[in-house]
Amino acid sequence: MINGIFKDTMANMKWTEIQNFVDKNALVLLPMGVIEEHGPQLCLGTDIYTAHIYCLAIKEKLEEKGHIVIIAPPFYWGVCQSTAGFIGSFHIRKETAKALISDILLSLSEFGFNNIFGVNAHGDIEHNIAIIEAFREAREQLHINACYAFDEGRIPLFGLKLEEPYLCPIKPQTIKVSKAEVSDVHGGDVETAMIYEFYPNLVDVEKAKSLPPITLDDESVEEWLFGGHIKDLSSQGYIGSPADFESVEVRKNVDDYADIISEAIISRMV
Ligand SMILES: [Zn+2]
Repeated sequence: MINGIFKDTMANMKWTEIQNFVDKNALVLLPMGVIEEHGPQLCLGTDIYTAHIYCLAIKEKLEEKGHIVIIAPPFYWGVCQSTAGFIGSFHIRKETAKALISDILLSLSEFGFNNIFGVNAHGDIEHNIAIIEAFREAREQLHINACYAFDEGRIPLFGLKLEEPYLCPIKPQTIKVSKAEVSDVHGGDVETAMIYEFYPNLVDVEKAKSLPPITLDDESVEEWLFGGHIKDLSSQGYIGSPADFESVEVRKNVDDYADIISEAIISRMV
């Protein structure tokens, strides 16, 4: 169990403690997510809880390698595109999200931090554009190493290459962590398992076990990605197989992602 998204972040520290991290030129991890419906079995905060869990594990990995790391207050007012219109998916405009991320990066830079890495657990296109643009501008305008850890396979879909200095490409996961035949697109087995492991009170277990698997075909993937069709694709707001959550190897999943992302971050350290 984890005691909330502020655990081991700046939000639980005094300014004098943060000053110590600045003096040591610490690397900053910024956990990123949204507040969004995740099916009838899961809480709205699933993505930001998940990003924070990853940041705790990444911090540990980087510290083992001798780096000094601090976690920024979690950012969770991002863009809900694919589940837009569903109760619980807060409608934050892309411009609002981008402006807020920019202001957070500016604040961190003004505090004196030089290396800032965004770790995000929410896949929507507009959300990722907001993050990419904010990190690119921060890097160009503030002259800091602001770098967004983003899935290597998705970078070309955004018209980008892999060498942009404001992107830190994450290699795909090569291990299998779930026995479910239906992959977790949204609120499926992996997300349900992650929250159940660290915040068991936030999962309705009986409900999760009662839910039939829901998949997308090639045509509906696009409808999903661009948003506005969630209720036609899944009336209950999930895509995947929440009922298989107990077969997910959660610790192995967290450890593997933390390995992959911390290696990606080290490759972009200056
Ligand atoms: Zn999610």
